Amino acid sequence: MSKAGFIDPFEPREIRRLVARYGSPLLVIDCERIRVQYRRLQKALPGVQLHYALKPLPHPAVIRTLAALGSSFDLATTGEVRLVSRLGIEPQRCIHTHPIKRDQDIRNTLAAGVTTFVADNPDEVRKFRPYRDRAELLLRVSFRSPGAVSDLSRKFGCGPERALELARLAAKLGISLRGFSFHVGSQAPDPLKHVEAIEACAGLLAEARRAKLGRCDTLDIGGGFPIDYLQRVPDIKRFCAPIRQALAQLPARVRVIAEPGRYIVGPAAISVATVMGRAERGGLWWYYLDDGVYGSYSGQMYDHGHYPLESLKQGGERHASVLAGPTCDSIDVIAENVLLPKLKPGDLIVGRSTGAYTWASASEFNFFPKATVVSVNEVLGDRGTVEEV
Ligand SMILES: *Cc1c(COP(=O)(O)O)cnc(C)c1O
Repeated sequence: MSKAGFIDPFEPREIRRLVARYGSPLLVIDCERIRVQYRRLQKALPGVQLHYALKPLPHPAVIRTLAALGSSFDLATTGEVRLVSRLGIEPQRCIHTHPIKRDQDIRNTLAAGVTTFVADNPDEVRKFRPYRDRAELLLRVSFRSPGAVSDLSRKFGCGPERALELARLAAKLGISLRGFSFHVGSQAPDPLKHVEAIEACAGLLAEARRAKLGRCDTLDIGGGFPIDYLQRVPDIKRFCAPIRQALAQLPARVRVIAEPGRYIVGPAAISVATVMGRAERGGLWWYYLDDGVYGSYSGQMYDHGHYPLESLKQGGERHASVLAGPTCDSIDVIAENVLLPKLKPGDLIVGRSTGAYTWASASEFNFFPKATVVSVNEVLGDRGTVEEV
């Protein structure tokens, strides 16, 4: 990346400047990296309309950056609906994909102008009877994926063998059926589940259309696109090659959409924490940071995440060290046995690829505040903006 005006906020000098200016802990979002990720995925999936799933990082700078590129959005809660509404995103660009909703959630979403919803069981389909003049449904089908970091098909989705029954119920109630959706699970280990699910859904779309159960012109292939953490994954173009091939077999009338979350934001943010204090225990140096597993490293608990960690201070002899969070809970340890130079209070630790499912699931346990979010390069060259979130 060597664009004119581009400031790399992930460089040590910029990291130090941002901490001096905005304090610690920080989550630094680089909007230029968001753009790069979006364009890479769009190139790997030509013709697929990308709906950024807000859940991994629901931050206004991310949403504005993606909206400017033509992205659509995937919302799951009334809070997410309100966030995009506040930012002036056209509701036609949004879909609501939580398979389980209260009537109030449906009404809030419709009031904002968003009309596409997801259902995965008869009870949920029936909730749309009063709104059948406006609402349209995608039926979520489950394809189990025990290898994924998070197997979303365990909790949601109806088995492929029940999907047509559900489609018939929607038709009987006069609810418009737009098609089918799935989510194979986040950080998918390979693209084969996507391919299997696309092929099965192609069959369902054809059968439902033959039976005149609705327009059936949409296939939503969900998210799950993987990124590098400590372990590397195939680059996205290669990962998506079999998916592209499977999509090419669909009839031309089928519109394909996807709901990427992690892939867009994961590599586009870093976490910066400061050493608060240290102690030598059992021959190891323990460093206590102002951010931990109750904060920006919550992904270690909820997302099985292992983030590349480094000390900004380089050089010198390295010692096996422990990085711990600030709370008084012993579970709050980020990493054991990391090789680090000898640190002192005030030194900085950087976690890479921490944009997805980290800050979003952080708490303020023990009154340690969540990291301040700084967005950089929303306009190329912008050196840092903090806003009310
Ligand atoms: C979480 C979620 C996503 C995003 O998934 P990633 O694996 O982060 O790409 C997309 N769609 C739905 C319905 C989700 O729940």
